[in-house]
Amino acid sequence: MSFTSLTGRTAVVTGAASGMGAATARLLAAHGVRVALLARREDRLKDLVAAIEADGGRAIAVAVDVTDAASVEAGAARVHTELGRVDLVVNAAGVMLPNPVDDGRMDEWTRMIDTNVTGALRIIRAFTADLVESAAGGATADLVNISSIGAHVPFPGYAVYGATKAALTHLSATLRTEFGPRDVRVTNIEPGLTDTELADHIDNPELGTDGQLGAMFDTIGSLSADEIADLIGYVASRPRHVNLRQIIVMPTRQA
Ligand code: NDP
Repeated sequence: MSFTSLTGRTAVVTGAASGMGAATARLLAAHGVRVALLARREDRLKDLVAAIEADGGRAIAVAVDVTDAASVEAGAARVHTELGRVDLVVNAAGVMLPNPVDDGRMDEWTRMIDTNVTGALRIIRAFTADLVESAAGGATADLVNISSIGAHVPFPGYAVYGATKAALTHLSATLRTEFGPRDVRVTNIEPGLTDTELADHIDNPELGTDGQLGAMFDTIGSLSADEIADLIGYVASRPRHVNLRQIIVMPTRQA
């Protein structure tokens, strides 16, 4: 099997306080990648940095709210000062707040759109020059966006979440037309049910882990965050000219 070493690369991982982002940061650091961990809960990020450093890795904790442009800019400045140019960006930060559209939850809609779509765009804006310059210098450069099967599979209550993920999936596909010619790879990953903290913010008991979602976990089972991280490691370690552009990964029992 062909494998391009990840050692010496520099990554930014958003959503690194938990779930897929944290697992990805751990895996990349274990393979010699210097990793900037971005999320809002700085205590979580610092704990993960300590764990990575105890294993001989290199990581920094950068408290960033992706819904806040100034916070992203300040975070990017810190990343550049402490780690230099970035050649791998993983957009894993996201929120999933399902409710019937009839409820008119503008607060949730705004938060999901601003985190899952505009937040990813703020990160892309902050690090595009790094990716393009890295690729121009002959390095491998990757943008990995974590979308969802919700981008194309309808679930009741998930209209707005699904719309944000459909937007991210389309953004990824379209960005390849701008980045690909400059040798920057773009990968869009659409996971199915994965066991993380994502469901913890659902405030509708019928839709949360005591309701619809819990029933899905019971019947389908789930992927682990480490399994998604493993996939991201695979994507990033392909030869430079090989771009896995779209990956749908689900528990075997999920249709
Ligand atoms: P988690 O809730 O464990 O992780 C989400 C992360 O996003 C947290 O670390 C959180 O940290 C961070 N985050 C949320 N809001 C912001 C913000 N405003 N600024 C910065 N960081 C933020 O869930 P997952 O690991 O499952 O989620 C990762 C991605 O995977 C998400 O985009 C999700 O939509 C997607 N996904 C998840 C699936 C699943 O079944 N779990 C299935 C398909 C896709 P903090 O709160 O500290 O900011």
